[in-house]
Amino acid sequence: MKYISTRGGAPSGVSSAYAIKCGLAQDGGLFMPEKIPKINNEFLEKLSSLSYAERAAEILSLFLSDFERDELCEATCGAYSKEKFGDDPAPVIALSDGITMLELWHGPTCAFKDMALQIMPRLFTRSLKKCGEEREALILVATSGDTGKAALEGYRDTAGVSVKVFYPTDGVSQMQKLQMQTQEGKNLSVSGIKGNFDDAQNGVKAIFSDTDFAKRLDDGGVFLSSANSINWGRLVPQIVYYFSAYVDMFSCGRIKMGEKIDVTVPTGNFGNIFAGFLAKEMGLPIGRLVCASNKNDVLTEFLRCGRYNRNRPFHATISPSMDILISSNLERLIFLLFGQERCRELMEALRERGEYRLTGDELSMIQEHFIGYSTDEEDCALCIKDTFEKEKYLIDTHTSVALSAAKRYMHDYKASLEMLVISTATPYKFAADVLKSAFGISADSTSAPRVLEELSGVIMPQPIAALGEKTVIHKGVIGREDMAEKTLEFALRRG
Ligand SMILES: *Cc1c(COP(=O)(O)O)cnc(C)c1O
Repeated sequence: MKYISTRGGAPSGVSSAYAIKCGLAQDGGLFMPEKIPKINNEFLEKLSSLSYAERAAEILSLFLSDFERDELCEATCGAYSKEKFGDDPAPVIALSDGITMLELWHGPTCAFKDMALQIMPRLFTRSLKKCGEEREALILVATSGDTGKAALEGYRDTAGVSVKVFYPTDGVSQMQKLQMQTQEGKNLSVSGIKGNFDDAQNGVKAIFSDTDFAKRLDDGGVFLSSANSINWGRLVPQIVYYFSAYVDMFSCGRIKMGEKIDVTVPTGNFGNIFAGFLAKEMGLPIGRLVCASNKNDVLTEFLRCGRYNRNRPFHATISPSMDILISSNLERLIFLLFGQERCRELMEALRERGEYRLTGDELSMIQEHFIGYSTDEEDCALCIKDTFEKEKYLIDTHTSVALSAAKRYMHDYKASLEMLVISTATPYKFAADVLKSAFGISADSTSAPRVLEELSGVIMPQPIAALGEKTVIHKGVIGREDMAEKTLEFALRRG
């Protein structure tokens, strides 16, 4: 399986190891496989008797053909171990009214980013070897909260790799901030940014496209890579849990083999839902993909009228990991449906004017698969409360944005398919807002988890419980204009 850039201006036909090593293609595009592998019902039946790690090895082997089967098994077994994820890394939970939840937050940092970022370092270091790369990799991360922590945890003390994380200092939850500030590991650095997530992401993108910067790093024996979902190595492991959920729904009698399901995904950078779309393209029986956004509804508007317009106010919400105006992975969808040339044209328009428009035909092609719903703060809070009261099931603010969207979609379209809703974080990661929503009680972020546990009876995950005893290591907050310099300082700190 070979990889190409979404924009067609970079060497094509590169290996998956090369795509994972680089993160971003040289023309600024994203790497995509040249074709999408197809599966059948037999493949699904086979998956149903396997462990999550074995399922992951099956799916990854279809895309990462330059990796040996043994390498993949070793990577998936190491990543999705009982020690890291407990008994089941991706359990499905049946609620009433035809809704099934897929919980993706049983990893070390308690959000779904662990599903990719626990395995990605294993794929990454193997990719460096396969490419004969001898320089040290510097992974730059812009985070809206959860990616940063998951990348730090995934790459901590990995030889030949260091990680620099930027987060918007007022744009993440207290818990997210504390998780990052207390991160241990010799090869890691974290800075807050005065600005929002898009500022952090744009700063990182600017560093990536600065050839002079790359030269200075290279002189010091360092090169840049990414752990954001623009990296294929981050995206491909996310395909796995859609398959895993489907076969688990089959095994527990929720659906028949081959029966279609709808899926709702709480969306920010469009990585998670795009992985779901790839699963659908591979042949997993998925009907609609409901793209759930919070008050930052740029995707809702896009999926409804074909206009992507980032020139709009940015809202800081109680689901901060979805506070995004530029959803990078949408580029992969545009590429897959409309080709390289059109993709380049639209991305150029986005860069120059901050917006682009699809034709009517293009919009119809997208609407065949996707529908957008946006959930405001009030409905998000209400859905947390209702779900706890009716189902005794506690959800976080991001998952609530999705569950609320799923219910409105099912009502609006009298949808009859079983609905899978992706649950992306433990309620304890956003404990203060969950507590307020479910029980109407205000507490600061230090005491909220304990109060929430008392009132809900839902056990707090161990990594959250342990956070109070950790020391704050990374305190720095810097201006956007200092990102490049700080990065260089960190990258070349030994030489
Ligand atoms: C990152 C994140 C999302 C958004 O996922 P994307 O792949 O960026 O669309 C949703 N919920 C949580 C909790 C997250 O951490």
